[in-house]
Amino acid sequence: MKQLKPSHSDVIIVGNGITSQFFALRLSKILGGRIRIIIIDKERKDSDLKEYVRALSLSLSTINLCKSLGIWKLIEPHTHPVSKIFISHSASNIEKQSFLNLDNRVNDEVASYIIDEKVLRKLVSEETAKLSNIDVIYANIGDIKLETDQVNLKVQNQILTSKLLVAADGRKSAVKKQLNIKSVSWDYNQLALSCLIEHSKNNENIAVENFLQTGPIALLPMGKGTSSVIWSMNRENIDQIKKISIGDLKLNIEKQFKNYIGEIIKLDNTGFFELNFSLVHKLYFKRCAIIGDAAHSIHPLAGQGTNLGLRDIICLSDRIIEAFKYGLDVGSTSNLQEYQRKRMPDILTSALAYDGINRLYSNNISGLNPLKNFVINLADSIPILKKTLVRGGSGISIKY
Ligand SMILES: Cc1cc2nc3c(=O)[nH]c(=O)nc-3n(C[C@H](O)[C@H](O)[C@H](O)COP(=O)(O)OP(=O)(O)OC[C@H]3O[C@@H](n4cnc5c(N)ncnc54)[C@H](O)[C@@H]3O)c2cc1C
Repeated sequence: MKQLKPSHSDVIIVGNGITSQFFALRLSKILGGRIRIIIIDKERKDSDLKEYVRALSLSLSTINLCKSLGIWKLIEPHTHPVSKIFISHSASNIEKQSFLNLDNRVNDEVASYIIDEKVLRKLVSEETAKLSNIDVIYANIGDIKLETDQVNLKVQNQILTSKLLVAADGRKSAVKKQLNIKSVSWDYNQLALSCLIEHSKNNENIAVENFLQTGPIALLPMGKGTSSVIWSMNRENIDQIKKISIGDLKLNIEKQFKNYIGEIIKLDNTGFFELNFSLVHKLYFKRCAIIGDAAHSIHPLAGQGTNLGLRDIICLSDRIIEAFKYGLDVGSTSNLQEYQRKRMPDILTSALAYDGINRLYSNNISGLNPLKNFVINLADSIPILKKTLVRGGSGISIKY
């Protein structure tokens, strides 16, 4: 365990996940040695690493962020472009009723890439480790005190001080709990199964999503004969899936995607994730800003959680860089209000849109089938709408 050396920093970040690391990296790359950052993560258990078996879809806003930080050249070789996205829904779990086919390009650029989350974490943390102005400490956080002019945080019997505390400690944020920061939240009564499959047919870089009555199932291309599967379903179905053999699981997945992947040869890296919706009332409290999943935990059906969090960090780091430029207080209320004002519209629209899609499609109310078909067919029949959907998902139109 690293001993604490500096007790004062400009920013203390709680949580060392993807959002936090990109945040620290961007601040350091732009402000250099002028900014001192302390990142604190809880002491790791081996079981914590099970979390990172899934594949992530990175949108163009994230790719542009990586390019601006000079790390896209390290990340790109590990990514897989998505050329097209096919969306459908099944009224029964077998019969597909309508299709939406999207050309996944914005201005001739590929709008999303798939990467193994473990690989992304490793590459980004290796970059942050090179920077001497970032100290990463693995310890449990103690009392947080948000004073008028500074933050005091107790860690390992030492009081750390800074101007700004950033909660980046994920959906079960301990910072939020301690500071009694309120969120709107509900349980989806769904879990996501994620696994990696090898298959006989080339997936042609096509991502497929089928909205079943029990929840959406998605196929993400990770090389010609390899794909990741993210299958969200209600608890009862997950309990059944957990009981079946790997062979039967292969058959169940194959049934959904046979036309695209042929036969499943191998299936591994299985993980299960609880799904819930959570959105903080405000993106800050006194001298504490909230980013990433700590601020918003959304349904994974569109693969946007990380992308949304990385847009938070662009906005918040811009506010900090601006304050540094003029020698102002980085944790001032006006600075954090500006962060809230600029980020909330994107967060709210995205979180509610994915929630609405899940509600419309993840049910067996037969009266809704015409509406389910109508939405998909309508979107498919209007080329400009299709372009708008791809552009929206790419996140590049968001202003900070
Ligand atoms: C099935 C599934 C598929 C997904 N697919 C996609 C996708 O394709 N694309 C996409 O953009 N997003 C996707 N997401 C969402 C994405 O995984 C999350 O949005 C993202 O991981 C959030 O990153 P984060 O850094 O904010 O939080 P986390 O990754 O949760 O990191 C939080 C960090 O805080 C630390 N921490 C926790 N508690 C404490 C504490 N008490 N003290 C100190 N540190 C603490 C943790 O150890 C961790 O390092 C998916 C999510 C799921 C569930």
